[in-house]
Amino acid sequence: MMRNARQLSAAALLIAAILFAVATPAVQADPSKPLAGYTVVIDPGHQLGNKNFPAQINRRVDAGNGHTKACNTTGTATNSWDTGKAVPEATVNWNVAIKVKKQLELQGATVIMTRTANSNALWGPCINVRGMTGNGKADLLLSIHADGASASSNGFHVLIVGQGKAQHASSLAFAKTMRGSLQASGFKIANYVRWGIRSSNDYATLNLSKKPSIIVEMGNMRNKADALRLTSAAGQTKYANGLAAGVKKYLLTH
Ligand code: ZN
Repeated sequence: MMRNARQLSAAALLIAAILFAVATPAVQADPSKPLAGYTVVIDPGHQLGNKNFPAQINRRVDAGNGHTKACNTTGTATNSWDTGKAVPEATVNWNVAIKVKKQLELQGATVIMTRTANSNALWGPCINVRGMTGNGKADLLLSIHADGASASSNGFHVLIVGQGKAQHASSLAFAKTMRGSLQASGFKIANYVRWGIRSSNDYATLNLSKKPSIIVEMGNMRNKADALRLTSAAGQTKYANGLAAGVKKYLLTH
């Protein structure tokens, strides 16, 4: 009697275990959302209205290197003789940034933007605020800019914090991944920056960030071919594809 009861209860437990296993399959990641769980800061450089707020953008802020720096700058622009009219860098950075944001969010990432509009009525935020955005919760920071170099200079380059800073090694790895991704997308390394990566402690955005961080200078606004690429919808999509792919690859391999 006792033995049968034990056998019965053992059988009942086995059946219960089987039913439980069938009812609760292992949690599987959604393959369409490979970036689920990651948080990315996207920093579209400058703000369209910075030129209208000189007192605010010239205010000195902590640059994270023992010095102070202007809160922000107006950024550069294309030459009107190259692109029909002068296109501000803030607008190019913004247009590319929102495309990158969309791509990363579609793949499951959480995106924090350092600015959420491109407007002549707005200024900032300051570079120190941009750098600190997402500290403690974001996996990386991608700052999107375009350069204003001499007309014959062309191509992209990536800026990272200098050696000796805590985020140098991880940012260098991120920069190398991004360089490879942009090259794979058909963009050329700048003909004025060796290897396409430069480290410096001049940038508050990089100095004050506690996560792997890069500034991508997508091209030279003062070079005609780069300017046409930077200001066209097709060119901006191509840049966004390369940038989003670089972020994804870094996140999934580091
Ligand atoms: Zn810039």
